[in-house]
Amino acid sequence: MSYVQRIIDQVKAKDPDQPEFIQAVTEVMSTLEPVIEAHPEYEEAKILERIIEPERIIQFRVPWVDDKGEVQVNRGFRVEYNSAIGPYKGGLRFNPTVYLGMLKFLGFEQIFKNALTTLPMGGGKGGSDFDPKGKSNNEIMRFCQSFMTELYRHVGPNTDVPAGDLGVGGREVAYMFGQYKRICNEWTGVLTGKGLSFGGSLARTEATGYGLVYFVDEYLKSKGDSFEGKKVVVHGSGNVAIYAIQKVSQLGGKVIACSDTHGWVEDQEGIDYQVLEHVYNKKRSGHDKGVTLAMYVEERPNATWHAEDGRGVWQLPCDIALPCARENTLGIEDAKALVANGCKAVGEGANMPTTIEATEYFQNNGVAFFPGKAANAGGVLVSGLEMSQNAEHLSWTFEEVDGKLETLMRGMFHNVDDTAKEYGHEGNFVMGANIAGFKKVADAMMAQGI
Ligand code: GLU
Repeated sequence: MSYVQRIIDQVKAKDPDQPEFIQAVTEVMSTLEPVIEAHPEYEEAKILERIIEPERIIQFRVPWVDDKGEVQVNRGFRVEYNSAIGPYKGGLRFNPTVYLGMLKFLGFEQIFKNALTTLPMGGGKGGSDFDPKGKSNNEIMRFCQSFMTELYRHVGPNTDVPAGDLGVGGREVAYMFGQYKRICNEWTGVLTGKGLSFGGSLARTEATGYGLVYFVDEYLKSKGDSFEGKKVVVHGSGNVAIYAIQKVSQLGGKVIACSDTHGWVEDQEGIDYQVLEHVYNKKRSGHDKGVTLAMYVEERPNATWHAEDGRGVWQLPCDIALPCARENTLGIEDAKALVANGCKAVGEGANMPTTIEATEYFQNNGVAFFPGKAANAGGVLVSGLEMSQNAEHLSWTFEEVDGKLETLMRGMFHNVDDTAKEYGHEGNFVMGANIAGFKKVADAMMAQGI
């Protein structure tokens, strides 16, 4: 049995109740065969056994009081996965689906994603099973303060730098930052995604969506093509989706559909990102509890609203598909429909939105498939730039940050593409991303000893 297969079996045996983690490890391991064969020293140093094991897992109680005066208790986590190439870095997710296995999957992906950015950041992830939906602003604040009351002792600008993820945006980061500062009596870049008036970076909000589109555009450019005139479908309508949609239209493409958890909207004239942003802000403000994406069609009468599973977007004829919602939202049936309708490229704006089966189907049917750990790295990349700005007590202009983001995302495409070619799998961007990310981290771990 091969070394990588032994590792997959080991994870299945040790963590049978963590399906997302097993899926992520299987996906990465099954592409590492060529690099493991070329470097027998990795197996001797048990590099895979070491890399799949988080350096540290922190689990804690998060008690808080709701608006009715009742005590609530949630579970908080921080998985400090790998610090070989820099301080642990990765988001916090607040969602009822959060449990240790989910965060191990996300943290594991984050290690390689962060390595691909070229910036010195290790991998981590955290969060809570707290559900921010329907909570008042005060409840969110009290929860965030309680969360940081424990987390503060484990993080720091050169130790572990959390940021946002699903359910954690600028507001939540700000509340956590305030609490850290209060406890530690220290203003420091301990979180990224901060507000612009207190150390946040311009272009951080737009970064994941823009980065995704720069990455896909660089692929198109390498084929002598561009976004000009391309039909694009997007799954999701959150922070990643909105700015991907804006950038696609700036580059001459047309996004014809996007979705939320209530349904999906079709706008053959091209989704208007400003209307979308308005709906998103209304949703996030929490004042209008009933707001859904259906509101989009009130301002765009030629658009149609489909009150059904958002995966309906995958049924539309398009050139490019961008899954920007969450994990496992593009399955084999969706992949078959996309291929049958002419889709030629898929870029993951979310983390692992495509199932392994669907990914293989795309790859076997001539679709260029760009995995999230490369394609959605723009967010954490600009987080890295926020850390740099904080460390030098400077703020760069929007153009400076966006320019660096664009250069690094375009460079990342070539790194991924060249690595796939080097290991004899031209056009397999999953392999290219996994091997390039893995090699950087593995070599740092080798150099630093057991
Ligand atoms: N949550 C984002 C990701 O999945 C960003 C993390 C960060 O900025 O640290 O990459």
